Amino acid sequence: MRTELGKVKKIPPYLCINAEKEGAFVFHEKARNITKTQTILVVEPHPDDGALSMGGYLFNRYLAGDRLISAVIFMQEGEIGKQRQSETEFVWKAVLEGDCHYLNLPDQDLNLTNGEGIRINRQAKDIVNQVCEYVSGLICEYSPDIVIFPMGIGEHPHHTIANMCFRLIYSTHTACQYMFYEDFPYSDLSRIAYIRPVYRICRQFRIIKEYHCISETILDKVNLIMAYQSQHTKTFDEVKGTLSDYGEAILYEGIVEGNPLPKKGLYERLWKMKRGDG
Ligand SMILES: [Zn+2]
Repeated sequence: MRTELGKVKKIPPYLCINAEKEGAFVFHEKARNITKTQTILVVEPHPDDGALSMGGYLFNRYLAGDRLISAVIFMQEGEIGKQRQSETEFVWKAVLEGDCHYLNLPDQDLNLTNGEGIRINRQAKDIVNQVCEYVSGLICEYSPDIVIFPMGIGEHPHHTIANMCFRLIYSTHTACQYMFYEDFPYSDLSRIAYIRPVYRICRQFRIIKEYHCISETILDKVNLIMAYQSQHTKTFDEVKGTLSDYGEAILYEGIVEGNPLPKKGLYERLWKMKRGDG
């Protein structure tokens, strides 16, 4: 279904057309004649993490013609799980024209420690091993140019486990570029508390900031987020307001830190691992 030039309406299959909110689910259309593309694998502890943390970047990469694949680790069971799976299919297949995979580990509370410090317990170890095997399998299957993990800087153990997987597999799969997204909203609730872990991971793995302009795709990002019903506690305009404030704050951070941002606008901040001597 077409609206104005260069935009296309995509409606989630689970949504009654009458319930469609004004302004939602109208996406920029991918340009034709794309030749040079990359494959990007995104590791998501939960189905909505990619859209929430870097939806603008994902949509820009989609418009550039890249192939986007999601690897979801944890999923609720029963009807809610099916619902979340259909939302994920909508975002990654119908909108981003990519693919998605599910490890389907039960989305339940997990205690990482054994009560004696920071050592992780046996159950968590088994889960980490399963996640590593799963992500490694997808890397072998798709040979992605870029693999994006969560920073794992919030306090959600599922996110910590996803980041742990990067630490265990990156030296095995050396052909891909590793990138990281900040675990929104966990990284945002008390950002000040996460500065130390962020700089620790940066020093350890030579990770640097990258700023991505999302001025053109901010509405696409809101739409991606609104495709997940778990996010419907807020209205379209509230989500847009939050993301615009965030995007502007990142712009000013870039300016203050002396990063050469090409123009005034809204930005997302991602992190990238430097390779070799680069
Ligand atoms: Zn999550």
